[in-house]
Amino acid sequence: VFSHVVRAPEDPILGVTVAYNKDPSPVKLNLGVGAYRTDEGKPLVLNVVRKAEQQLVNDRSRVKEYLPITGLADFNKLSAKLIFGADSPAIQENRVTTVQCLSGTGSLRVGAEFLARHYHQRTIYIPQPTWGNHPKVFTLAGLSVKTYRYYDPATRGLNFQGLLEDLGSAPSGAIVLLHACAHNPTGVDPTPQQWENIRQLIRSKGLLPFFDSAYQGFASGSLDSDAQPVRMFVADGGELLVAQSYAKNMGLYGERVGALSIVCRNADVAGRVESQLKLVIRPMYSNPPIHGASIVAVILKDRNLYNEWTIELKAMADRIISMRRQLFDALRARGTPGDWSHIIKQIGMFTFTGLNSEQVAFMTKEYHIYMTSDGRISMAGLSSKTVPHLADAIHAAVTR
Ligand code: PMP
Repeated sequence: VFSHVVRAPEDPILGVTVAYNKDPSPVKLNLGVGAYRTDEGKPLVLNVVRKAEQQLVNDRSRVKEYLPITGLADFNKLSAKLIFGADSPAIQENRVTTVQCLSGTGSLRVGAEFLARHYHQRTIYIPQPTWGNHPKVFTLAGLSVKTYRYYDPATRGLNFQGLLEDLGSAPSGAIVLLHACAHNPTGVDPTPQQWENIRQLIRSKGLLPFFDSAYQGFASGSLDSDAQPVRMFVADGGELLVAQSYAKNMGLYGERVGALSIVCRNADVAGRVESQLKLVIRPMYSNPPIHGASIVAVILKDRNLYNEWTIELKAMADRIISMRRQLFDALRARGTPGDWSHIIKQIGMFTFTGLNSEQVAFMTKEYHIYMTSDGRISMAGLSSKTVPHLADAIHAAVTR
């Protein structure tokens, strides 16, 4: 009965890893998926995560019962505090509802399903370009996806004018997806002043902001600074949604830990919204997994562990910044034609190199370097040892 099924294409990002795994070359390099690696090229489990897991294992009172539909209550409270700030007026006024979801992706999906059912506008504007999964998540949830201009290839920076024009002509009430920090794939974020202008435009037009916060702490190394754009939109008293992921900033990728928060007009609305979120979640996966959220809750609750986390997080962010500098210097040393200063200007895990798909294909074929065809490289997958190989490959690709 399934013989008519046609083979689907590999996921454009995860497919890079599939191709990488098949390559027998000893010099192969995977710069596709956005997962942190040490300078030895190894995946990293944070020390603080090991400690939290040890605590959980030692606690014999812990059981494996189901969590509530909305997840671990402590985790939800602490996650809201992390993104909105400990002194957030919205939290104090009980206007925020937070539900534990399956990492960032699951949080986006639950938020989108809720909007499709209960919000009067079905159109969501996403930046051009954006993380490849965004349009699929929103379309399948029943929203209609439009794009707003974001990246300017000529300056390799923000197309601020285009962004303002496109959001300015969006229909009233439309949903706007915003990357809270460390925009994926471009590494280009608005300045604080530009954020303020975006906020004014969004509020004056009655658009609904939906923040995707997948890299809190990864952009600047500071959890508070990276949350500033979200907090600006909370401070003005308006409504918004935010999807948080702990995949990158706690290195909990496969544990699938995240949260969706919806900031509402008042506590009464927040309670009703939460009751509807439960109806979205229950038939999808009933309730979320317990282990990863427990790790996060242990770390966020304990002042010492929290401080240790911020130090480890900063070390990851700093290593990425140092990779940017090393790659930039290596290209300059080779006299590679072009202005590569965007490598050090861009923010977060990724560099949008400006290499085209042909150049990327050349680098994969001749240098065994794997990356997405849009020229995005994950700086977190690079190490001092592999920078020269990548610089050689880029040099060869642009001088060919
Ligand atoms: N949003 C963005 C912008 C991302 O880059 C990612 C991960 N690559 C996610 C959301 C979701 O990640 P996860 O579901 O692993 O938390």
